[in-house]
Amino acid sequence: MDQQVQTELLQVLQPLLDQSILPAAADQPSQPADIICPNCQRLYTWRAMCLDQAGARLVCRECAASGRLAASVRKPLAVLKMPGFYVLLTVLLAGFLWMLGFGNPGKEELIKQDQGYPWNQQRYGKFLLQQGKRCKERSRALLKRQRRTEAAHWAALARKSFRELTEYWQGTDVEMDLRVAAALMLAARGEPDKGYKELAALAPHFPAKHPSHKAYRVHCGRLALESGRRRQGKQILERIMKSITDIELDLGSGMDTIFYMAEGMGKGQADFVMREQVRYITDLKISDDVLLEGCLKLLATHKVPSKLAAKNEQDLGRAVSVPEDPDPDTTGTLVIEDVEE
Ligand SMILES: [Zn+2]
Repeated sequence: MDQQVQTELLQVLQPLLDQSILPAAADQPSQPADIICPNCQRLYTWRAMCLDQAGARLVCRECAASGRLAASVRKPLAVLKMPGFYVLLTVLLAGFLWMLGFGNPGKEELIKQDQGYPWNQQRYGKFLLQQGKRCKERSRALLKRQRRTEAAHWAALARKSFRELTEYWQGTDVEMDLRVAAALMLAARGEPDKGYKELAALAPHFPAKHPSHKAYRVHCGRLALESGRRRQGKQILERIMKSITDIELDLGSGMDTIFYMAEGMGKGQADFVMREQVRYITDLKISDDVLLEGCLKLLATHKVPSKLAAKNEQDLGRAVSVPEDPDPDTTGTLVIEDVEE
């Protein structure tokens, strides 16, 4: 098939492919799940979800109802004598009305309420972020226990959240972080090749000065290795190591961090904190020394020989673990293929 046609076809089919790997929802078994209830950990479509009584979390209707029941049953009669009783009554009454559907926002309502607020104060966006985080963490935990199929399902669900969030927070400077997170979930669901390609496609749109750029490059290197692109992986990781080592020698690097912090604070603390949170969740909030160590570990894990890695390990004062049989693919001239600085 013609390469161009193939690419276009894949673009059309990708959302469907993404959809098909999603697990079924408990409330509508014929539908793919949108969301997990953080309380009972079961999967649901958006229609089954509502805000909990405090309005802080999106939970399934069952949990919302049972949570309230438990709270009211536990209260003994002595509560009638408490000065705060009437306050409590009002809260319960409000909860009851809310259960009947008054002021109980669903997805559309939340989105409507978000309008006019800065991105970092948008509740629907925050829900999606927490949702993505939860699914991602669960996927990772399952993968550790070798439960690959389940891990793939949860990674697909995480990807769905991150992709939707990419649209929701389009134009903000966490958009790139979210795009990377969505691509990483492809690898997490067992498709490092697709993940790598999606990451590589971001390169022309990713400013080198972006605070997440270096971490993004490390993820590119990781997925390159995981998808069998040993030369590219090696090259990407070595470049990062070199840039980090160079910067470390430069006394100005500490100042960069201070300027970054100051700039962030200048833009408003809430905005800055939220951005840091997004970067933490998307695995792009990584300090230089951790990145350097990550590069070294990746090269060692994939048994990619690297003189620079050996030197860096020595500089860091650690034992050098040089792979025994160098891969013939990694020798010779290194050529940058589809990933560019
Ligand atoms: Zn629930």
